Amino acid sequence: MRTAIVAGRVFDGTRSLGPKTVVIADGLIESIGDDTPAGADVVEAPGATLLPGLIDAHVHTDTAGLRMALQFGVTTELEMQGANTARDRAHIAEDDTLADVRSAGFGLTPPGGHPEELFPKDFDPQRGGGRGGPGGRPGGPGGRPGGPGRRPGAPERVDPIVRAKVTTPEEAVEVVGRLARAGSDYIKFMVDDGSVEGHPGLPMLDQATLDAGVAEAHRLGMLTVAHALTIEATQMSIRAGIDGLAHLFMDRPHTPEIIDAIAQSGAFVVACVVLDASMMGITGSALADDPRVAGKLTPEWDSTLRSSFNHYPQGRLEDVLATVRALEAAGVDLLIGTDVSQPLPFLGGLAHGASVHQELQYFVDAGLAPTTALSAATAVTARRFGLADRGTIAVGRRADLLLVDGDPTTTIGDTLNVRDVWRRGVRQSAA
Ligand SMILES: [Zn+2]
Repeated sequence: MRTAIVAGRVFDGTRSLGPKTVVIADGLIESIGDDTPAGADVVEAPGATLLPGLIDAHVHTDTAGLRMALQFGVTTELEMQGANTARDRAHIAEDDTLADVRSAGFGLTPPGGHPEELFPKDFDPQRGGGRGGPGGRPGGPGGRPGGPGRRPGAPERVDPIVRAKVTTPEEAVEVVGRLARAGSDYIKFMVDDGSVEGHPGLPMLDQATLDAGVAEAHRLGMLTVAHALTIEATQMSIRAGIDGLAHLFMDRPHTPEIIDAIAQSGAFVVACVVLDASMMGITGSALADDPRVAGKLTPEWDSTLRSSFNHYPQGRLEDVLATVRALEAAGVDLLIGTDVSQPLPFLGGLAHGASVHQELQYFVDAGLAPTTALSAATAVTARRFGLADRGTIAVGRRADLLLVDGDPTTTIGDTLNVRDVWRRGVRQSAA
């Protein structure tokens, strides 16, 4: 069975190819050209743009989150702490009603360290909210390995939440090795003293422990990412040789020195402007009001999107946007990410899939070209995370595709005009 998508425009992950016919078969892109093969199922889309499926480079997710993401054209979610490691996701790889996923497993953090402070003292993870495990107090956003998701007969494992708690370089080395063996796709480090979450003095990895963990991950050939919300935590992460920053700092305006340090290091930055905005008390209500979004939100997600973290109201979003622009000017690879997790009001301002579109709009607000923003959610992300089979529209790549009415290469808001989504060539009827 072949499908020929006759698109008014194809954006291949890097540039606009103009009007093209993209033929997909057996879950892959078979050809890109001007001809429609005989017998193919034809999708006529003269006023539409075909894009690679979008990638959210910072989530905490579960089956419900992956299903929702796919409805918004997000065909891959990269989890930055959670349960969806290689050992636990065979069912997701084969289920074309869900976005695909990669995961860090659990992030290295000291006992009592981030993200414990995010959860209200009376929060009960057993009742808290998400299907497939709300992540809960000890674990942070993103599900509980060995919990409800564990299949009968699967080997009993010691809870990796506990095992990712480290305070010394030796423990960091040991835990990185354990995460690698347990199927983490990359290694995540929490570098957070709690200052922007209203919890100053939070236990935090020290430089030596961070250095040792990053070095061990590199020795094992693994990519490393750091959660850092302040300039100081960013500097520590860069000093340790981190490959990517999973957040953009929000505590202060950027300086030439920090921009230069990031650029010289070669690290990528998953900006998560939507998360910084939520931390500053900016809700996703405008997005929730958009009819292209509203119809895809459950009541729980609607109220979550209309909420916000609101831990750092003194922050300035203009500063964050200026930092995005400065990083781009310095040649830093910027990636689209959201930090979306569970439908809980204290993790609000975000929703799976929907917030990716808002992040794209923030990149353009920051002064980036719409095509740069789109690359940051497709080709650049695939390159930096070594996902060679996706992120671009090219022959032989996965047929993970998003078809939208209009032209997001000039009008970024058109990405929300979702008309069709394909995952491994499987067309999503709900889109
Ligand atoms: Zn996160």
